[in-house]
Amino acid sequence: MPANAPAPLPGPNDLGAWWMPFTANRAFRRKPRLVSGAEGMHYRTPDGRSVLDGISGLWCCNAGHGREPIVRAIRAQAGELDYAPPFQFGHPAAFALAGRLAALAPGDLDRVFLCNSGSEAVDTALKIALAYWQARGEGRRTRLIGRERGYHGVGFGGIAVGGIGANRRAFGPGLPGIDHLPHTYDRAQQAFTVGEPDWGGHLADALERIVELHDASTIAAVIVEPMAGSTGVLPPPKGYLERLRALCDRHGLLLIFDEVITGFGRLGHAFAAERYGVVPDMITFAKAVNSGTVPMGGVIVREPVHAALMQGPEHAVELFHGYTYSGHPLACAAALATLDLYRDEDLFARARALEPAFGQAVMSLRGLPGILDIRTVGLAAAIDLAPRPDAPGLRAFTIMDRAFEAGLVVRAAGDTLALTPPLIVREDQIGEIVDRLEPVIRATS
Ligand code: PMP
Repeated sequence: MPANAPAPLPGPNDLGAWWMPFTANRAFRRKPRLVSGAEGMHYRTPDGRSVLDGISGLWCCNAGHGREPIVRAIRAQAGELDYAPPFQFGHPAAFALAGRLAALAPGDLDRVFLCNSGSEAVDTALKIALAYWQARGEGRRTRLIGRERGYHGVGFGGIAVGGIGANRRAFGPGLPGIDHLPHTYDRAQQAFTVGEPDWGGHLADALERIVELHDASTIAAVIVEPMAGSTGVLPPPKGYLERLRALCDRHGLLLIFDEVITGFGRLGHAFAAERYGVVPDMITFAKAVNSGTVPMGGVIVREPVHAALMQGPEHAVELFHGYTYSGHPLACAAALATLDLYRDEDLFARARALEPAFGQAVMSLRGLPGILDIRTVGLAAAIDLAPRPDAPGLRAFTIMDRAFEAGLVVRAAGDTLALTPPLIVREDQIGEIVDRLEPVIRATS
């Protein structure tokens, strides 16, 4: 086999060894869904079918698949400098990327810590928050506040502040000192909302009760997704993020926005922070930073937080944290090329311009049987389905499976379907997504 030939396609007996993440492995082995190529808005299957990608891979391939400038940049970087140790050594692409990200982020979010995934980004941000308070002589501030229905990856920090029971229950007691704000969704108040719901801004005030319970002097940080993505596209109610920021300011708490999903154009801006005009103390990112091509994540940190940690003798390490692959040259090169593409093709503005058409198209499914709610914001939408009482989750899973056969990738989580197409999607392709999904939903009662 030539050195650069694609991996051979798996036969039915080759599906045993890979223990797939967040997957019903036994069902998968009985009926696998395989993709073996991708270009633009489409995946190719081993049997030659073209499948429209309705979810940007996994909310990450915002520039579409197989984009030549990104591929070229990765190739060139691999030939030039394949790896550089990030502990005590640097390389140009990492510094260039950090500068570009700091320029994209609002306010004085000017320092960038690089890692390899959203989960690592979250754990990094939580650790920076704790180290920050210790450096400031307020080491009692160790409590962390997340939110119900929050998803912050699968590290022990992320599942502690995250609000998904299924992701925590099997894994012991987890981190101590965690509280959760209530989630912001109420079907009775918000069903079939396009954009940010009018109702729910007051839910941020629950932070006051948590502060009252523990005292602000014990709390390090609050972490939320500006828009909760994985648990069903829950846009922030109007005024909610502003109130959360004001309360964090009142009590001196750090505010972290987990923008792993919302970063890089999903809501029509570089970051949701920009869309909502609220500047957090840290932003976590991953996924679309390089359009999902090479694993990468990171944290963008406000200058005063960073400055507080730049203490001690100059030869001494300031933060005892990092990863062998922090700022990996291939990931950085891919990210620089991706940021160029976002800029040159004005893809964030494109997402903004497409938002009404996308919202209207998905909302047109409203009358179908068994649909409890539809939410859309930016180029993200969720469809809540009435669960089958005997088998929660099966309806959405079956729709996802049948949609794949019908030529469309959608995401199923519980009984919610998510649609998050690449930002290069055309209006006719938005129509195609809905046209392919509609008969499948009708047929899956
Ligand atoms: N935070 C958020 C908001 C996410 O949506 C995700 C992934 N969907 C993560 C963190 C974890 O990212 P990763 O899977 O890259 O670890």
